[in-house]
Amino acid sequence: MITASPTSRLSSPVRDWRELWREAITDAGELLRTVGLGQHAERLPPGDAGFALRVPRGFAARMRHGDPRDPLLLQVLPQLAELDEAPGYATDAVGDLAAREARGVLHKYRGRALLIASGSCAVNCRYCFRRHFPYGAEIAAAGQWRQALDHVRRDATISELILSGGDPLSLATAKLEELARGLADIPHVTRLRIHTRLPVVLPERIDDAFAAWLAALPQQKVVVLHANHANEFDAAVDAACARLREAGATVLNQSVLLRGINDDADTLAALSERLFAAGVLPYYLHQLDRVQGAAHFEVDDDAALALMGALRERLPGYLVPKLVREVAGDAAKRPL
Ligand code: SF4
Repeated sequence: MITASPTSRLSSPVRDWRELWREAITDAGELLRTVGLGQHAERLPPGDAGFALRVPRGFAARMRHGDPRDPLLLQVLPQLAELDEAPGYATDAVGDLAAREARGVLHKYRGRALLIASGSCAVNCRYCFRRHFPYGAEIAAAGQWRQALDHVRRDATISELILSGGDPLSLATAKLEELARGLADIPHVTRLRIHTRLPVVLPERIDDAFAAWLAALPQQKVVVLHANHANEFDAAVDAACARLREAGATVLNQSVLLRGINDDADTLAALSERLFAAGVLPYYLHQLDRVQGAAHFEVDDDAALALMGALRERLPGYLVPKLVREVAGDAAKRPL
């Protein structure tokens, strides 16, 4: 289906995001052929190393053709290294399960509760800290969000609700409208924060209906994107970011420091500059969560701190993200 352009910033017709979702690449061999690297298929791990591949075609189109070190490709392509068992790496890297308080509700930090709104993502990132999360039983959106909202209603200390997942924008807008109706009688929730990678990997998701939903929310709204490299941005992503801001959201970005992808000062500085050009402020740069299958992405702390020093020397302070690590059981993210 083709719909009208959602804003004047997008002059060409925009395809329905659900169709684009369904057309995503789910086969690693096809992904390699799409980017001109079909000859690398014999290096793929069996069974996608136990974590399904999923890449929207628009995101694959931003990869450099014929480059096996492309920083977007390396975020999504299954690797044999994922099969290595690394000491200190766990299936529940950040203590999610211990923080569970109700169906799909994690409560780690004072004043904030996190809803596992959905178990689906438009893209599956190989370093994902929830790649082993048992989503089946823990979806807050199930049953009209009832259990999750009952929990939030009972706890008046919760002023900020974080929609996470999976990707909360994988839900139909009608499902998000259900949530907004449920929040109407919970006045202590004054802020809604949405953690999403969809505006970056499938920017068509920020369509008219979603923008209208976001704009109509009475709560303050914060959208935290997830981009790791400047090459993830193009005109459609810029337009999606603009729509989020026009709907009244503060738009931030969190990145993960990833070996071979963004672990040099030039790349991180370019990312911060590109984010700001799109109207987005860098928020966090996460040290890798030590989840099984992702050890080959880790950058050691000394190297990470040296990178931060280099960034501080070349960028204004508002473009330098905070380098943090999440430690299970801590009352806040731990600054490095
Ligand atoms: S978008 Fe986020 S939750 Fe989804 S796979 Fe990537 S890192 Fe994990």
